Amino acid sequence: MTMTRLLLLPLLTLFVFSASVLAAAEKPNIVWIFSDDHSYQTIGAYGGRLASLNPSPNIDRLALEGMRFDRAYVGNSICGPSRATLLTGKHSHLNGKYDNGRGGFDHDQQQFQKILRKTGYQTVMVGKIHLDGNMQGFDYWEVLPGQGKYYDPEFITEEGRTRYAGEYVSDVVTDRALDWLQNKRDEDKPFMLMIHHKAPHRNWDPADRHMAKYEDIDIPEPDNLFDTYLNRGTAARLQDMSIEKTMTLGNDLKVEGRWVDNPRFAKRAKWFAENKPQGKDLVRWKYQTYMKDFMRCTWGVDENIGRVLQTLKQMDLEDNTIVMYSSDQGFYMGEHGWFDKRFMYEESFRTPLIARWPGRIKPGSVNTDLVQNIDFAETFLDLAGAAIPDDMQGKSLVPLLKGQTPADWRSSLYYNYYEYPAVHSVRRHEGVTGKRYKLIRFYGLDVPNGEEWEFYDLENDPAEMNNTYNKPRNAAIIAALKEELQRLKADYKVTEPPAQVRRKARTQRKKAPQK
Ligand code: CA
Repeated sequence: MTMTRLLLLPLLTLFVFSASVLAAAEKPNIVWIFSDDHSYQTIGAYGGRLASLNPSPNIDRLALEGMRFDRAYVGNSICGPSRATLLTGKHSHLNGKYDNGRGGFDHDQQQFQKILRKTGYQTVMVGKIHLDGNMQGFDYWEVLPGQGKYYDPEFITEEGRTRYAGEYVSDVVTDRALDWLQNKRDEDKPFMLMIHHKAPHRNWDPADRHMAKYEDIDIPEPDNLFDTYLNRGTAARLQDMSIEKTMTLGNDLKVEGRWVDNPRFAKRAKWFAENKPQGKDLVRWKYQTYMKDFMRCTWGVDENIGRVLQTLKQMDLEDNTIVMYSSDQGFYMGEHGWFDKRFMYEESFRTPLIARWPGRIKPGSVNTDLVQNIDFAETFLDLAGAAIPDDMQGKSLVPLLKGQTPADWRSSLYYNYYEYPAVHSVRRHEGVTGKRYKLIRFYGLDVPNGEEWEFYDLENDPAEMNNTYNKPRNAAIIAALKEELQRLKADYKVTEPPAQVRRKARTQRKKAPQK
């Protein structure tokens, strides 16, 4: 060993030691802001036909100062199951929460926050969780019962229920979270603060102060607002989630029934009664009204995100806090003539994901790797320096956040949607997607074999208007995707749903009206 090397050794040891002490001292705080049904189409940073309306200045700021994920997806596009995956890092078949029905989520199972808490993090959950039963692994939790209410919302804590009369849900969720941050936090510990909004879930009730927003604007329509589902399968035709047929003039659009006398919607109801649009004009009017209410709700979420960012800055917490924003799935903003979610088509399969971490994430960066909601739990644990349990099914996003995607990062994603028969009549399906090609298998259909396959080329057909499963030119790609689907199912240990979930499908299918 040369003299130089001998001299360097203690220096190196000192450096390594200091780095690890420094890392321990600087465990980042995590602020996770999560909304319900917020489509990437209504986030300015994602571009698209609605970006010019400037619908989300604060979320856009997060993207500008951090990283935007363009290919973030869920494994089962519906509220309760998405949240179960968020907490467990597992697909529905392993965490047990297959659909939005009551029960199904065992709170005793392993969840990331329980581990995070053991490593010295304070863990807090405020807002919508949509999983029955008492939360576990949180130092403090205050959640909405079930779907919760937009106006005068009630919250549940371990001590009981509190009603916030005269208040709007997105404001209260943020108030409660900031109250914990400013008044209840132990400043000697890092924290995980989960702020879960109810908005913009159906039936899209805006705050009073936002009722006039977008009033005199025409919201651009998607090209396929009047989709006829030609070249698609049985499932796309038989769904019950269209603006034309499913969206109601009562609870959804508020121009009929009890809403007529509600001062918030009286002006709209009066206009509707006098003008009574018909046919395509009626669909267009419904689209405009739906979009405006939806975007008023997301404006309320965005405004409250601004309050959180401002508070972090005032408390001098900005630099050591990673702020992440996402939604429990995407949503249809009139594409295919639809609202709601559930399908493996892009608008509901994809979900927004944005992260800001000063000094670690390059400002204004964009990630196009395939990421999924099974990755979130592991990401939180990795950020905290905690060991990741073997049975979690995702991958930490921390290397991606640092701009260092591993060479062996995944090239495909698995999806399975189980909730049928149920509201909106979207048939059960599973599938696999790569960056360009997507293969979907609808199962349990009333057709020979009970199944139908769909195949889309997202590069040539990004709106997924042409199922080209039967085109001979695609045979080789489809065969490869079928093999990949089997590989993923084996890898993720996909099993048949339990008897209870299967039985529900059989008995309810008999009762479901034939369309
Ligand atoms: Ca949802």
